[in-house]
Amino acid sequence: MTAAFQNTRDFARQLDAKDPLRAFRDRFHLPAGPDGQPGVYCCGNSLGLMPKAARAAVEAEFQSWEEHAVEGHFHGVAPWMHYHELLTDATARLVGAKPVEVVVMNSLTVNLHLLLISFYRPAGRRYKVLMEGGAFPSDQYALESQVKLHGYAPDDAIVELVPRLGEHTLRTADIEAKIQELGEELAVVILGGVNYYTGQAFDMPAITRAGHAVGATVGFDLAHAAGNLLLHLHDWDVDFACWCSYKYLNSGPGGTSGVFVHERFANSPELPRLAGWWGHDPSDRFQMKKGFRPMAGAAGWQLSNAQIFPMAIHRAALALVDEAGGMEALRRKSEPLTGYLEFVLREAGLPAEVLEIITPTDPTQRGCQLSLLVHRQGRALFDFLAERGIMADWREPNVIRLAPVPLYNSFEDVWRIGQAVAQWAEVLTLASAN
Ligand SMILES: *Cc1c(COP(=O)(O)O)cnc(C)c1O
Repeated sequence: MTAAFQNTRDFARQLDAKDPLRAFRDRFHLPAGPDGQPGVYCCGNSLGLMPKAARAAVEAEFQSWEEHAVEGHFHGVAPWMHYHELLTDATARLVGAKPVEVVVMNSLTVNLHLLLISFYRPAGRRYKVLMEGGAFPSDQYALESQVKLHGYAPDDAIVELVPRLGEHTLRTADIEAKIQELGEELAVVILGGVNYYTGQAFDMPAITRAGHAVGATVGFDLAHAAGNLLLHLHDWDVDFACWCSYKYLNSGPGGTSGVFVHERFANSPELPRLAGWWGHDPSDRFQMKKGFRPMAGAAGWQLSNAQIFPMAIHRAALALVDEAGGMEALRRKSEPLTGYLEFVLREAGLPAEVLEIITPTDPTQRGCQLSLLVHRQGRALFDFLAERGIMADWREPNVIRLAPVPLYNSFEDVWRIGQAVAQWAEVLTLASAN
């Protein structure tokens, strides 16, 4: 495909005309650029666009509350009592899980803690945590506080993976070697599915195998992977995972979160966990008796009754993924879309001393995002793009992240980014000639 790319608007429009997902763009609200014209939104890695269906989904729940008040738990189109179950099947499809392995609840960092309480069980020599160096700050704080909770010093208990000198991303073989080296000291491996900064997608099945081989549990924070990568969490034998819904899942700011717990723990009431009434066996939840008995599967990690409003948005947003043909269909567009972005960026002609793409080139090692390490005047380039209606995102000290999202970005969007970066290259050349 890459070999056949052309850097023209006509070519991009031809790809759009052939795109089976092209109609989905119109199912989202697209913010305008500074000139009032439709912008190029490339921040789906940070906050996905608002599905037009979101408002009606929330309105339906307002209606239910207005008409039924407390009886809304049992009446209305989607009674609240079992609301989380309405999300189960779509969530299982999304991450390659069995329905019993997933639940939607709380928000991401909260769920990460709940899962670590169960799956980080240090004992004796086995107490270490392996994670990415420079992980998303919330994950760093979560792990730091978890190891302290068990009485360990973060500097000792947390081992960070860092790229080799002169490289920007991690090699799978190095991750596996580190796991082996830690061996019996390793309690848990916790990595992002896709690193938020570099956009690197990790080899989750290989890492899971390596972790299990030394007796560690393996979990993934899928904030940047859910809705972005094709996932097979069950088959990969991952122990646990969690993700947010507001990035590639377009479910609104601060939206609800998803959790995966492998089926082999589905009936493990002895697993330590923080409990709440919504995780209790529903057959006698309302007897209000002593003695917590968890529901089977991931649902047994629920604490509170469902947050209907964010879940209603999430439900509408997940329905769009299914309507589009699921993650296979999204990936089928995403790979060439990001491939095209890589192509037009290279065509823009900025030398590596100015701009480097640090995301791996191999499509199996990335999702839709490309991270540009801008060695010179990065912030100025970012502002230059913004003035041209291109909404990217900026990460200190010098990374621009661009995430063309298959549900709503077009090949023409990507072509426009390439044009703007090429204009910037001209500005730089003129400046250095003067
Ligand atoms: C976005 C993101 C978060 C955000 O956590 P919240 O609890 O939803 O605020 C955490 N971890 C990673 C890796 C993220 O990308």
